[in-house]
Amino acid sequence: MTRTVYVNGDFLPEHEAKVSIFDRAFLMADGVYEVTSVLGGKLIDFDGHAKRLQRSLDELEMRNPVTVEELLQIHRDLVEKNGIVDGLVYLQITRGAPDDRDFVFPDPETTTPTIVLFTQNKPGLAESPAAKKGIKVISIEDARWGRRDIKTVQLLYPSMGKMMAKKAGADDAWMVEDGFVTEGTSNNAYFIKGNKIVTRALSNDILHGITRAAVLRFAREAQMEVEERNFTIEEAQGADEAFVTSASTFVMPVVEIDGVALGDGTPGQRALRLRDIYLDESRKAAI
Ligand code: PMP
Repeated sequence: MTRTVYVNGDFLPEHEAKVSIFDRAFLMADGVYEVTSVLGGKLIDFDGHAKRLQRSLDELEMRNPVTVEELLQIHRDLVEKNGIVDGLVYLQITRGAPDDRDFVFPDPETTTPTIVLFTQNKPGLAESPAAKKGIKVISIEDARWGRRDIKTVQLLYPSMGKMMAKKAGADDAWMVEDGFVTEGTSNNAYFIKGNKIVTRALSNDILHGITRAAVLRFAREAQMEVEERNFTIEEAQGADEAFVTSASTFVMPVVEIDGVALGDGTPGQRALRLRDIYLDESRKAAI
């Protein structure tokens, strides 16, 4: 089935959608993005994604070409036009396409942002087989830039990290800077020891995960202790459980870190419970 996508005000068949070769995202990765999951035809955590999008744009002094209400309507229209029950909506806004390549930002009065949205159909997204088995991660150096709190489309290093994991026979990588875990290539990282969840505190070093915020809130409500602080790979290897969170994988148990199995090497009970709570609560609040 040909997807209907959204580009700069138009809904078009995917093969008719075009962006300029001078687009700043194509030439300089000068763009930001969001990924919102869809469960049962409804959007999960839309408000959180819309707020973080605005923050990313503000940090880069980029204009938002749409209002939150318009953005919600475009998301809903795309979900409907593409018959998405379970899946994802990808959104990207770039600084637009000036007449020529130049490092200097173009005048926002004459160069308007580019906005693109498309859906990804993922039937049974929440019933992922990986969540039943858990994933294996390796550790790699965090070689990204210093503003990881801005959700830019500079995804080359995370993409290389996934390839390093694949070559090592693992599923994903946790990145390490100055001896401490920052986050996963496309998710936030946690371990559980006893009744306590440990995850790195928010700063410019990591993306402020929308799923992270919700999961930590639910964990506290479930009387779990939450400690936001730096931790090492060794500490996580000695934990009872570990997991990662993201909008597309929700809460995903981690069963092995650099070849060391956690507990008995199967998904931990607390991580699985957090996954259930997150999915239940998110479905209830979906719009
Ligand atoms: N960290 C990184 C580096 C990511 O790419 C993502 C997912 N985009 C996350 C964390 C998780 O964020 P969210 O829960 O908002 O999807």
